Amino acid sequence: MKNRPITYSKNVFIPVTNVCRNKCAYCGFRRMAEHKDAFLLTEDAIIFVLKRGAEAGCTEAMFAFGESPEQDPEFIKRFGKQLNDVGFKTVVEYTEHLCHLALDYGLLPHVNGGVLSFGELEKLAPLNASMGLMLETTAAVSAHRDCPGKNPTARLEMIENAGKLKIPFTTGLLIGIGETRSDWMESLQAIQRLHDQYGHIQEVILQNYTPNSGQENRIRGIGDLNPPTKADMIDVILLAKNILTPDISIQAPPNLMPPLELTRYGVTDLGGISPVTIDYINPESAWPKIEELKNLLGSNGYEFKERLPVHPRYVKKGWCGAETRELVEKLADADGYRKTESCGPLSPKK
Ligand code: SF4
Repeated sequence: MKNRPITYSKNVFIPVTNVCRNKCAYCGFRRMAEHKDAFLLTEDAIIFVLKRGAEAGCTEAMFAFGESPEQDPEFIKRFGKQLNDVGFKTVVEYTEHLCHLALDYGLLPHVNGGVLSFGELEKLAPLNASMGLMLETTAAVSAHRDCPGKNPTARLEMIENAGKLKIPFTTGLLIGIGETRSDWMESLQAIQRLHDQYGHIQEVILQNYTPNSGQENRIRGIGDLNPPTKADMIDVILLAKNILTPDISIQAPPNLMPPLELTRYGVTDLGGISPVTIDYINPESAWPKIEELKNLLGSNGYEFKERLPVHPRYVKKGWCGAETRELVEKLADADGYRKTESCGPLSPKK
């Protein structure tokens, strides 16, 4: 009998800026612009990571960053000149340029920069193999106090806009931030409804809230946060299996919960794993080694299979940003997975 595939993508994680207009109580990533360790990465720093990613055989450049940092006047004071010097007014405009760079270095961009307008999505879509925005929850939770971008209606609207633009899309739920089991169901149903209409949801991440030492809730003491147990995660995976159609992959990050148990209940994808960069959102949770996962899953009846940031179903349908198509075709096999003979270092144009 053939082993069941569990997929992953080999990526570099590029946190363009850690300044964000939201103040999620569980966030250990965000900094205020005036904080000493706030940053906006320079082009040189990003090129360094892209080169290392290409050398390590990665296929994905995941650009994840704080939402609308320009709304903070301190951000403009501190980083406005840095942006202007390279010719941009906003981080999204800068990211468009970074996507071009990623493609030049042989990596497929996947942008997740919070809630983006239709116009911003439209500009980024041709340069991205896929894009993402966690729905997190449809519930109004206290951990999202002071977070304009965490309004579920705004998030669902952006996910819908991505559908209108035929962008293969990654979304998901964050578990343990004050929501209930019926909120899980409502959130999953809302995602499925959009997928029924537009057919663009390639994967739903079920991410367990994981405390780490940099989090705001420790400083502010707010937010009804409760890291889920393994039983909670199995419960939400089973709900997802029931509510979502089988063409949507169910993903769990393997650095936040041991993956083997979860694959038994319906997880089919372990998401982006980086041999080069850390998980900046959960910096205390190291990625497992790809070889170790391959052995573990292989000896338990699974085939750990590399995919691109755009899932095989969408590669086969030809859904990916127009400017990424040539690279997607170069990297994908006939089934839409990553071509095994291209698994060494890529040969970038630069
Ligand atoms: S979790 Fe995301 S949206 Fe919330 S504060 Fe952190 S960076 Fe901003």
